[in-house]
Amino acid sequence: MASEFIVLSHREPYQEIETEDGPRLQRKTNGVFTTLDAVMRSRHGTWIAWKEIDPEHPFQTWIEVPSPRHPDRYNVHRIGLDADEARRFYYEFTSSAIWPVLFSLLDRARFTLDSWETYIRVNQEFADVVCEEAAPNAIVWVNDFHLMLTPELIRRRRPDLTLALFLHTTFPPPDVFAVIPWRKELLRGLLNLDLIGFHIPSYAVNFADTVSRFMGATPSAIAETELMAEGPAVAVPTYPRVIEFEGRRVALGAYPVGVDVPYFAEVAQRPDTRDQAAEIRARTGAETIILSAERLDYVKGAIERLECFERFLERHPEQHSRTSFVQIAVPTRTGMEEFQTMRRRAEEAVGRINGRFGTMEWQPVMHFYGSFAREQLVAFYATADVLWVTPLRDGLNLVVKEYIASRLGSEGVVILSEFAGAAAELREVVLTNPYSPDDMDRALEKALGMNEGERNARMLALRDRVINFDVHKWSQRFLGDVERVGSATGTILTP
Ligand code: UDP
Repeated sequence: MASEFIVLSHREPYQEIETEDGPRLQRKTNGVFTTLDAVMRSRHGTWIAWKEIDPEHPFQTWIEVPSPRHPDRYNVHRIGLDADEARRFYYEFTSSAIWPVLFSLLDRARFTLDSWETYIRVNQEFADVVCEEAAPNAIVWVNDFHLMLTPELIRRRRPDLTLALFLHTTFPPPDVFAVIPWRKELLRGLLNLDLIGFHIPSYAVNFADTVSRFMGATPSAIAETELMAEGPAVAVPTYPRVIEFEGRRVALGAYPVGVDVPYFAEVAQRPDTRDQAAEIRARTGAETIILSAERLDYVKGAIERLECFERFLERHPEQHSRTSFVQIAVPTRTGMEEFQTMRRRAEEAVGRINGRFGTMEWQPVMHFYGSFAREQLVAFYATADVLWVTPLRDGLNLVVKEYIASRLGSEGVVILSEFAGAAAELREVVLTNPYSPDDMDRALEKALGMNEGERNARMLALRDRVINFDVHKWSQRFLGDVERVGSATGTILTP
């Protein structure tokens, strides 16, 4: 049956896990899946993703998630890639070429013609499925940077469709994007969209600068930001809402993703969550708990944080036995050597710190290499006095908002990198620059030494921001704009 609402995301939202009662589908933990799953459940659309073909098992093109009988189920259409194609597309192109460029970490970027050709082929397959499955005038929502060519490939055959993209990462400035040998092809793909959603205005500014430099496109309709106009590195006062290119208009918008606030508040107050929170605290043996929870990705700054905590313990013998750092490191891109190296470096640092400072009663660093279900994660949020989020760069960072949504009272302090998109929204965090060890030290001291009055005032203000702009408001705003541009391409959006 033709679909009115199609989501393209390079990966599918659920994975099969083995349980005592047999195999079960479980939603993946990455922030994008958490967000889109909530939207898809209410829209009952079709999600198109790739999956590696396992020659030992039959390939199932269609599945229903969370389960065939679930009242909020939706369809997933899988595009099968063999192991070679999957490696070239995912590891060699999107992860090794595009990802480091988006995060401005150019020394990690590598480009091969072979992987680019695979990227084109996979994008073409996605576009073909959309053209066949979309109902007349359907909405197609492309997610992220894995499918940047699809808008052009789809528009050629299906000009009736409304094409929008939300970029869940950052977008870098022109000199950085310039290193991609196929920058023009990628940008032309994006300029075929009706709407591009970014988390924050500075990414829209970077995109507009990039397409005006390399494609001769013209930014217009400059609007003031609703977020912070200055302060953290990611703040800008204004951004363009429209790009004009070859007679078409592409609308740009800033929509920082929110979280499901009632869900986190409800889980946080369950008695079993409170029990788990108390157990975590007891296991560290500490009075004060600092938490970080993220994929073990070089953009997230895990090693820098461990080194900072080690310096803190060197400076503060009186904090031994009193303060512990709980670090959740979720495995990611485990097939790539640089991620295996990161894991080794993190584990070495943890071993060194615990060996140097730990006692029978107190564990300075509690490190978990693994992924927790969201309910369990909330127990960590509930017990942590300080959330420590210091990515070198991050599209937004959902963990910070989930932590704030899980705080039932007014306690809790957030340290946040000024290079995370959320820093443009969350004024009351303790900002830090993760490129500067001195500034990292200062921020940790400030957070741990903050008096109760200031802690409470900041957390209450943060809670207001997170509650007032949750994931439902985010999707209403983004999809409302998608529908508006669909009815009149290039209409200047309401702020
Ligand atoms: N997460 C999880 N289990 C864990 C650690 C993290 O489910 O053990 C989830 C967390 O709830 C959040 C997501 O992973 O929704 C991370 O999103 P974020 O935007 O912070 O980072 P991303 O991984 O998208 O870069």
